[in-house]
Amino acid sequence: MKSNMPAKEKKKSKGKAEKPLDRDKARRFTCIVCPTCCELETDGTEVNGARCPKGETFALQEMVMPLRVITTTVRCETSKGVAMLPVKTACPVPLSGISEIMRRIKSLRLSEILALGSRIEAGSPAEPLDLIVTGELD
Ligand code: SF4
Repeated sequence: MKSNMPAKEKKKSKGKAEKPLDRDKARRFTCIVCPTCCELETDGTEVNGARCPKGETFALQEMVMPLRVITTTVRCETSKGVAMLPVKTACPVPLSGISEIMRRIKSLRLSEILALGSRIEAGSPAEPLDLIVTGELD
């Protein structure tokens, strides 16, 4: 027998049964952990729509304090000239603090081009911020 349920809804409801959520607290998120982009809904306790535990963790974290990994570049000023070295934060940082962290990263000046995978300490003891080199320059 053919169902009238839209294809997306069928995909979402396949597998686990929907858990009851507190409708006053429930919020929707698109999971950004992998390219599947599951549509999640959570009240901060239960999560619906996740096809794996990583999505459940993501949704619960979004309710408390959204985190993101920043990918950007750091300016290298060497005797050969100026180059922009690709980096990312060593761990996810609070979404609300990204403007301030980007300001700190943009003020950095390296005197040499570091190798892929090198760690750059860009913070202070009070506010540690480590970056990882994610690309190579010629
Ligand atoms: S819930 Fe799991 S499968 Fe779905 S997007 Fe998130 S990480 Fe990917």
